[in-house]
Parts: sequence; structure tokens; C-alpha cells
Amino acid sequence: MAATLIDGKKISAQIKEEVKEEVLLLQQKGVTPCLAVIQVGNDPASSVYVRNKRKACEYTGIRFADYLLAEDTDQQTLLTKIQELNEDASVHGILVQLPLPEGIDEKAVTRAIRPSKDVDGFHPVTAGALFLREKGFVSCTPAGILQLLKRSGIEIAGKECVVLGRSNIVGKPMAALLLQENGTVTVTHSRTKNLRQVTGRADILVVAVGRPRFVDDTYIKEGAVVIDVGIHRNEDNKLCGDVDFEKVAPKCSAITPVPGGVGPMTVAMLLKNCVEAAKVESNL
Ligand code: NAP
Repeated sequence: MAATLIDGKKISAQIKEEVKEEVLLLQQKGVTPCLAVIQVGNDPASSVYVRNKRKACEYTGIRFADYLLAEDTDQQTLLTKIQELNEDASVHGILVQLPLPEGIDEKAVTRAIRPSKDVDGFHPVTAGALFLREKGFVSCTPAGILQLLKRSGIEIAGKECVVLGRSNIVGKPMAALLLQENGTVTVTHSRTKNLRQVTGRADILVVAVGRPRFVDDTYIKEGAVVIDVGIHRNEDNKLCGDVDFEKVAPKCSAITPVPGGVGPMTVAMLLKNCVEAAKVESNL
């Protein structure tokens, strides 16, 4: 059985078109959604991510306000900037590009963003709201994965869902979302015993382990749906995921490729969150 390829490029493009339409409608009501992005220092990978966000915002009509602060910016200056943006009614979403330079406390910075503008979904109040099923933004990568599953017609209710990885930005919110969708959810990590036995039960396996091609066919149940969150460069400088695609694809029913799977969804969901923030802040 050939696995269906879950096309994140196509689905994210659909979402961008939907966002574009929503932005137009908001503009007709006098509101232009605005995302403010703060980058501290010139980390090359961060600069690429910020550039991609800018491009996506520009494409959909979201105003992009970027603040590039010097590498030696102190924490208080950064917190003051965030506070300023919290108070600025023309700014709807605020994102601080991570990682931050040494000496700046990421937790303090994350907590400084007003939850109603926390489009990354990293504030403890936002993260808690997800677990309590209250209103709030969902971290973009897991939110994107949920869209991939839903828009590919993959049923979650009643399914054995296994999440490999328990990070605050992927694994934990992913587990909460799958639970919300009535999946039977197991979260695994580096201390999990008999990992293959656990992942081998999964109807839906989400892999966010952060190790190149860690998951091969021995971790997979025949016919499973496999979502690969990882992004790495292999020996030939080509992108690869946490899943060994060549070994796993023949065994599963559907799989995300790397690149072109989960990756493009993260920015698409950020745009969606920004539009949502603009609607809420403008009472629309
Ligand atoms: P992370 O913070 O490094 O978390 C990795 C998780 O995997 C941890 O919970 C860790 O367990 C677990 N783990 C590590 N080695 C293991 C092993 N041998 N057996 C079982 N579990 C193990 O990673 P992350 O931030 O969630 O990111 C995961 C991957 O997704 C990375 O490749 C990252 O680059 C990628 N990513 C992609 C996107 C996107 O937009 N596509 C977004 C975010 C991240 P412990 O908790 O016990 O240490």
C-alpha cells in the first residue's frame, strides 16, 4: 500500500488564501491586522525565520512591524519594548524570535507578552488555557499539525495517538490538542521504556524528538498516520526529518514529507492567529 503524502505546502497555501480574504474583510471595517516581531541580535537562522514571516505577512496583507535590537540589548530594554507594544492598539500580535542571547531570561520575556497578543501561544496563561479548553492561541506548530490531519480527512476521535517528545512548544500542546479531539493520547520521551512498543500502538504518531531520522519502520504500526515535526540538515546538506521517510513511508497509510510537511504550516498558523487577535482586539 502506497502512503498518502500529506501536503503541507498545499494546505498552508490554502490557509494563506483564507487569511488573505479575512484580512481584506477586516480592512473594509477599518482594521489592518499587525504582527510585531522582535529579534535580538543577528543569529542567521533567526533572520531567515523572520524574513519568511515578513514575506508571508506581506503576501496576506498583514502589517509587519519588525524591531531588530542589538545583540547586547539588556533584558529591561527588551521588556520595555514589549510593554510598549502591549499598549499599542495598532499592534495585534507580538512575537519575540527565539533563541535570545545569553543573559536574557526567555521565561520572563515570554511572560511579558500580553496573552491577548501572544500569537505564538508560549505564555503560561495561553498554554494553560489550552489544557483547560479555554480561549487562547495555540502554539503554531501543533495547531498546524491539527489542520494537516483535519484537512486530510484523518479521524482523530477514538484513535490511539502517540506523541514522541514533550517540549513546551510541540509535544505538550500537541498532546492537549489530540486529547481535545477525543484521541486516546500517550506522550513519550527520553525516559520512556519500550518506546517501540508504545509507538507501535499508534494509529497517529507525531514525532518531535529532535533527532535526524530517529524513527524507522520498527517504531510503526502497519497503516499508521505519521507526522514528522523534525527539521535537520543531513550529511549532504539536504533537509530531513525525525523520521526515516524511505523506511517508514511504505508501512504507513499517510505521512508528512520533510520539507513540505509540517514546516510550512507553522507560519500559516501564525498568520491565522494574528487575524484572530485583530478580530478579538477590535471586537469584530
Ligand atoms: P526538544 O525540545 O529538543 O524536545 C525533544 C523531545 O524528544 C524531548 O521531550 C525529549 O525527551 C525527547 N527525546 C529526545 N531523545 C529521545 C530519545 N532517544 N527517546 C525518546 N525521546 C527522546 O524538541 P522540539 O522543540 O519539540 O522540536 C522537535 C523537532 O521539531 C526538532 O527537530 C525541531 O527542529 C523541530 N521543530 C520544527 C518546527 C516546525 O515548524 N516544523 C517547529 C518546532 C520544532 P526529554 O523531555 O525526556 O528530554
